[in-house]
Amino acid sequence: MINIAIDGPSGAGKSTVAKALAKSMDILYLDTGAMYRAVALKALRLGIDPCQREKVLPILNDTDVEVKYGQGVQHIFVDGEDVSQAIREHRVSKAASDISKIQEVRDHLVDMQRAIAKNNDVVLDGRDITSYVLKDTPYKFYLSASVDVRAKRRFDELTAKGQAVEYDKIKSDIIDRDDNDMKRTYCPLMRTADSIFIDSSDMTVDEVVKVFLKHIEEIGKSVGKGV
Ligand code: C5P
Repeated sequence: MINIAIDGPSGAGKSTVAKALAKSMDILYLDTGAMYRAVALKALRLGIDPCQREKVLPILNDTDVEVKYGQGVQHIFVDGEDVSQAIREHRVSKAASDISKIQEVRDHLVDMQRAIAKNNDVVLDGRDITSYVLKDTPYKFYLSASVDVRAKRRFDELTAKGQAVEYDKIKSDIIDRDDNDMKRTYCPLMRTADSIFIDSSDMTVDEVVKVFLKHIEEIGKSVGKGV
């Protein structure tokens, strides 16, 4: 199996790049952030504070999170409802970051992620993929970009979807979320020594994808797997 792991801070372009890579290699793309968002959405809908472990744990056992693919596109379901759009609301981002600090939430979702990676050629993006979920894969990347570029991309993405947002708020939310993700105790976001670092600040998506594909080909040769 080819398992490609991509980590990096919010708004670095991981999901755009991962999707394009998966398409060009004709393999699956698993957006692991969507899974944390799905659990967070359920908590928000029930009026549960995602920071409160003792309130979150009961809903975890009682929530059915499923990842399905339709024409190669990932859809995420919570208790049978397709929430792929609803999880993109801005309020869900911080809730996902808070809920993802809870070890039991992570353990539950990581088991699902590993099961998918075990049975499929797949590109996974997230925060702990290179350091934990797929720590044995040779295909490891850390994708970053300056905070201003990341805030601008997120702002453009949300306004294009019709969400009323302010640039300064988006930027400070990104800084807070990175801080939350990098400083948590269990599986924080980190750049592992064996990940290839790519800074996408001054690159187009196509350029970034080309760089990834070149590295993937080289890694494939070195591990004896032609890609
Ligand atoms: O990638 P995305 O912004 O959708 O992720 C939402 C949140 O889910 C992140 O801020 C992070 O806290 C959490 N997450 C995580 N581990 C992953 C993927 C996402 O902790 N593998």
